[in-house]
Amino acid sequence: MRRAIYPGSFDPVTNGHLDVIERARKLFDEVVVAVAHNDEKQPLFSLEQRLDLLRETAGRIENVRIAKFSGLLVEFARAQNAGAVIRGLRAVSDFEFEFQMALMNRNLNAAVETIFLMPKEEYTYLSSRIVKEIARLGGNVSSFVPGCVAKALTGKFRQ
Ligand code: ADP
Repeated sequence: MRRAIYPGSFDPVTNGHLDVIERARKLFDEVVVAVAHNDEKQPLFSLEQRLDLLRETAGRIENVRIAKFSGLLVEFARAQNAGAVIRGLRAVSDFEFEFQMALMNRNLNAAVETIFLMPKEEYTYLSSRIVKEIARLGGNVSSFVPGCVAKALTGKFRQ
C-alpha cells in the first residue's frame, strides 16, 4: 500500500489544501492529512476544531484519512508506514523554508521522500493566514474555503 502524509496546521483548511489533497490522492493508495498539534503557533482554531473541519470536507473523500500528530513528522510517517510526505508549493516564497524542511527530514529519515505539488493557479495566492485576515475584517471568504469553514470563521469573528 502506497501511503503519503500531508502535514500542516490547517488553521483552517482552505480550497488550496483541498486541491493538493485531490492531486495527492490520485498518486497514492491512501493520503493521511495530519494536523500538527503545535502550541507555539497559537492557532485560531483548536486542534479539535481543525480536525472537525477537515473531517467534514477532506474526510469525505475516498482514500483520505484525517489524523493528528505531535512530535517529529518523520517519526509519525514511520509509525504510519508512509513512504512520502506531501507539501504544497505556491510560489518561490514557499521554497526556501520547504527546501530546508525537506532536506532536514531526509537527514532524519532517508526512507521518507518529500513530494511537492502545485495547486491550481487560482489558489496560489491563498493561505490560511490571509483567509483569517479577510474574515477578521468582515470580508467574504466563501470562494476561498468550504462552506463549513466560512461559517466557522464568521462565528469566530462575530462581535
Ligand atoms: P504549515 O503550518 O505546515 O505551513 P499549512 O496548513 O499552512 O501548514 O500548510 C500545509 C501545507 O499546505 C504546506 O505545504 C503549504 O505550503 C500548503 N498549502 C497551504 N495553502 C496552500 C495553497 N493555497 N495551495 C497549495 N498548497 C498550500
